[in-house]
Amino acid sequence: MAIKSSILDTIGKTPVIRINNLAPEGVEMFVKLEAANPGGSVKDRLALSIIEAAERDGSLKPGQTVVEATSGNTGIGLAMVCAQKGYPLVVTMAESFSIERRKLMRFLGAKVVLTPASEKGTGMVKKARELAETHGWFLARQFENPANPDIHAKTTAVEIIEDFGPDGLDYFVTGFGTGGTLTGVSRTLRADSPVTKIVAVEPENARLLADDHVQSYNPDGSAAAAHPAWRPHPMQGWTPDFIPMVVQEALTNKRIDAYQPISGAASMQAARDLARKEGIFVGTSAGATFAAALELARTAPKGSKILAMLPDTGERYLSTPLFDDVSEEMSDEEQAISRSTATVRFDVSAAGGAPSFPTADDDALAEVHRTANENAVVMYVLEWCEFCWSVRKMFEEAGIPYKAVELDSVAYQKDNHGGRLRSALKEICGTHTIPQIFVGGTHIGGATETFDAYNAGELGKMLEARQISMAAAAANAYSYLPKWLHPR
Ligand code: PMP
Repeated sequence: MAIKSSILDTIGKTPVIRINNLAPEGVEMFVKLEAANPGGSVKDRLALSIIEAAERDGSLKPGQTVVEATSGNTGIGLAMVCAQKGYPLVVTMAESFSIERRKLMRFLGAKVVLTPASEKGTGMVKKARELAETHGWFLARQFENPANPDIHAKTTAVEIIEDFGPDGLDYFVTGFGTGGTLTGVSRTLRADSPVTKIVAVEPENARLLADDHVQSYNPDGSAAAAHPAWRPHPMQGWTPDFIPMVVQEALTNKRIDAYQPISGAASMQAARDLARKEGIFVGTSAGATFAAALELARTAPKGSKILAMLPDTGERYLSTPLFDDVSEEMSDEEQAISRSTATVRFDVSAAGGAPSFPTADDDALAEVHRTANENAVVMYVLEWCEFCWSVRKMFEEAGIPYKAVELDSVAYQKDNHGGRLRSALKEICGTHTIPQIFVGGTHIGGATETFDAYNAGELGKMLEARQISMAAAAANAYSYLPKWLHPR
């Protein structure tokens, strides 16, 4: 394995994988797994292609901000490329796309400007264009930029021909978002593997390509109006409310041999089947493409080889209807498995009871009392304890200043300082649990007692008595707990 010179060298060369358990008798089905790209989607390819084309032609200057409208995957790909190359990135995205997408882009250092879902795909594109014009930013223009289909013609399609040989593939099945995949791959397959039929899949309630309405464009190539056949659909990343300029090349050259509609329900079922029967974990548009490929497989001539494009990973969909049938809690069956052995269960308390602590020494006892009296609010915490985080979060949101004693931190390790304070706390508070909170020298209790005092308004009164006013924060302090710690 050659060492890669940067993460960008790991984009592309995604595997084609045989389908073993879901393919009907007599046909061979394959998928191209774009989740294997470092950013988890097909859009890593276009992100690198657009940025490097703009670097070459001088339209992107060193350090210039990049801006783009995206349903998420392009933004994630661009965020990765921009992080590596040192360009700031601003993304505009409709609020209707999954939360995972926003967080991933922000984690990779991008700014995400949300646009109203009611203004659809055309709205987020308009916002990106306005931002570019107002601030002199580089607009990536994925829906028009020729660097988008070009990279698929040069890499995705070439990889497919390398895997199947020229004329070795009977059907290539794909949806479209920008149309980069459809136009680029079909360009090279037509030239170098002319037997391969190109099948374009669309949501059944938003069949823009199969409709004869002619899309109009602005002089800059952006869509001039929304397409009348568009309706909201669940395949994130597919079929915006216009036919992108990038798709026109495939339409004009009549490269699409068949148009296939697919329902949202069939798409999600196919994504679940791929996960559960093939171990292939992908998103909704991948499920949609595979569902369409399966329909095709049922009628295709015996011996056909069918390849479905799988654009991204399923991890991007945890908060979407794709995961509706996946519960956070244990099912009845899982609970029965838990009860089938004696210990480590929720319905049987743990053996052994509370841990023991050595007797508190006088210095440690005096230190706890002194600290409580010298500070308005003191919290004894452990660095990685989620109850502690929850109380801190509440104090921070409510603007309550506090002193935190981090019992397990490096600073408290010398001479078992933290351990001695824990013994003292156990004696003073009557419990070994952490956190323990003191206000104005008075012991309040642990996280639960502190939340109760907050909810009942008592904490506020104690703080007021010390001239500390609270900012508006959550009505119920228990909402600061992570979900898995919520009282059962
Ligand atoms: N599926 C998903 C999840 C996507 O994000 C995209 C790109 N928007 C596509 C499919 C379609 O790819 P393309 O833009 O190349 O048509």
